[in-house]
Amino acid sequence: MINRAIELIRKSTRPVIFTGAGMSRESGMRTFRGEDGLWKQYSPEQLSSISGLRSAPEVVWNWYRMRLMTGEGVVPHAGYKALTYLQSKKGKLPVITQNVDGLHRLAGQTDVLEIHGSMRTASCLDECGFSTELTSGILKNLPPFCPDCGAILRPDIVLFGELLPQKIISKSYELAEDCDLMIVIGTSVQVWPAAGIPFAALENGAVIIEINPVQTELPRSDHVISIRRKAGEILPLLVGLEEKT
Ligand SMILES: [Zn+2]
Repeated sequence: MINRAIELIRKSTRPVIFTGAGMSRESGMRTFRGEDGLWKQYSPEQLSSISGLRSAPEVVWNWYRMRLMTGEGVVPHAGYKALTYLQSKKGKLPVITQNVDGLHRLAGQTDVLEIHGSMRTASCLDECGFSTELTSGILKNLPPFCPDCGAILRPDIVLFGELLPQKIISKSYELAEDCDLMIVIGTSVQVWPAAGIPFAALENGAVIIEINPVQTELPRSDHVISIRRKAGEILPLLVGLEEKT
């Protein structure tokens, strides 16, 4: 199975990566779903919704700053480095991610489609066009205000009550329909519409290499190679960064 996966990656001419929360968790990032999910302690309706941000921006931003701080010092694991290496080798390797932590970019990857947005930037809630990196300076006085028009700023993640960014979703589906290989990492393939992306790849004849220690919603098929291992352990081997022993 591992050998077949190595061969498929080597031969692939239009590969695409698709990642979910499990990829982040391996780096120690706390995530929304799963055992230690932050949602267990807080109500998402209050803390991460567009209505919460409008009615209690200070509360929402305080919680959000806490989230950013729990992510401080988290570095991309060996699996991310393997993907960066594969991207440089292939020339073109789009990365579609459900994660908002920016670890793919931090690992040096380009062509990253963040379908749930990014927690590393913020923009004007009134959409005047202002956007900024989230620095400690901006997070000092909460809520932060737009220097251009005076509205409050919003984190650039998709909040409850909002649709996913349509352009990025369309682009992701286009890539899925056109790829010959999709490497699906750390996602249970349960949260729609993102979960439809690997299924779109399958329906269009692509092969899927799935890396996840646990069972997912992907079907058992000749076109799905399921490797029940951690991404940080197996990806360096699959992309040729490490020799098989
Ligand atoms: Zn503004």
